[in-house]
Amino acid sequence: MRRFFIDAAQAAKAEKDGIVEITGKDVRHIVSVLRMRTGDCLLLSASDGREFEARITGCSDDLVSADILNVRLNATEPRVPVTLLQGVPKGDKMELIIQKCVELGVTAIVPVMTEHTVVRLPEAEAEKKRARWQKISEEAAKQCGRGIIPQIGAVTGFEKALRERPEEELKLFAYENEEDITLKHRLEQEGASFEGQISLLIGPEGGFSLSEAETAGKYGFVPVSLGKRILRTETAGIAALSGIRFYFED
Ligand code: SAH
Repeated sequence: MRRFFIDAAQAAKAEKDGIVEITGKDVRHIVSVLRMRTGDCLLLSASDGREFEARITGCSDDLVSADILNVRLNATEPRVPVTLLQGVPKGDKMELIIQKCVELGVTAIVPVMTEHTVVRLPEAEAEKKRARWQKISEEAAKQCGRGIIPQIGAVTGFEKALRERPEEELKLFAYENEEDITLKHRLEQEGASFEGQISLLIGPEGGFSLSEAETAGKYGFVPVSLGKRILRTETAGIAALSGIRFYFED
């Protein structure tokens, strides 16, 4: 069933009145692109983890109304939230990273500028990129059945991005120079019933500088290896997230 995301006000109305009114860009998608009509059913995800099944009762150019048929809790969100801090890569690789990491259940992505980041993004351009990346996140979230749209944060400087992470998170730093501690080893130290959340730091093409590796340590990020081969930046996040999901069966 086609999935759309609704905000808190729409979810409250759905619960109280048993109806939902969809406006904005989703209307064009539902009516003109998907050619859905009265009687067709939709799945509506609210940001609090609930999911409403609804049947369309009316369509116009700027409004789709639907009756709520049932409500349930979303069953596709992973138990362990992971925020990816991704060194901004060259070209359009970030788009691939976002799409795949959303499929693998990432909760949020923060694009990070590091010493070896090649791309220069003036503020206006960075905001344009962020808006495009957010759209890619939304499309991937719809396609793979997520209960939330993972947020793509503003492009942030390295140290600030690290400093802003909550104290209690398990902070992992994928480091190709780490020889002893693998991702599996580090997760095993937490155990499969781990109930916390994770931050995962991945460098851009050029990797991290020595001083950044030290700074990461200062903010509680522990280096982990993703294996004996050097992965490309766009492979590293996908590989690490797959490993995390595999370990937690999540
Ligand atoms: N500094 C390297 C390559 C960096 S790879 C060079 O220039 O040759 C880009 C990023 O992917 C790294 O910063 C790291 O976060 C991650 N990565 C790649 N391979 C890895 C591995 N085997 N273990 C851990 N992290 C890895």
